[in-house]
Amino acid sequence: MANKVKVATVSLGGCFGCHMSLLDIDERLIELLELIEFDRSPLTDIKQIGECDLGIVEGGVCNAENVEVLKEFRRHCKTLVSFGACAISGGIPAMRNQFTLTECLEESYLQGVGLVDAHIPDDPEIPLLLNQVHPIHEVVKIDYFLPGCPPSADTIWTFFQELLSGKPIEFAYQQIHYD
Ligand code: SF4
Repeated sequence: MANKVKVATVSLGGCFGCHMSLLDIDERLIELLELIEFDRSPLTDIKQIGECDLGIVEGGVCNAENVEVLKEFRRHCKTLVSFGACAISGGIPAMRNQFTLTECLEESYLQGVGLVDAHIPDDPEIPLLLNQVHPIHEVVKIDYFLPGCPPSADTIWTFFQELLSGKPIEFAYQQIHYD
């Protein structure tokens, strides 16, 4: 265990699809778990991050809590990976950037179909939304970008294999080709 690479993962403004794609490496997970151990991750349900070799971040930065978690990952991870289209560009959550935050809140909570007791929630437990959704490299330094929505299981597998063996990371054309 002592020599294993410690990996933390998190989903900020994402749909967990990138994490699902990681699980799609299927039986190769067994081989992967010979080399790594997971720290904080939705896969372990560990809530506090320890000192890690590798941090993998899915999703864009949508709210104040996302900023805090992302900075925490940067502080605790030697290498940080922007995992999937939402982390790299804001992706699906960033579709709201063409509207003001007020317009988004009013559409969701005041004008939506079938609303009862319509009001904009203001519970202090709810993280404050940012005016715009940001790609994660606008908030912290990123070491690697792993594109795709989601990155395919084969792409993720290649990434882990090459990173963990210290090789330059190179993908086959099919692994980073999108129609
Ligand atoms: Fe989901 Fe795609 Fe965004 Fe990954 S990149 S979190 S699969 S929408």
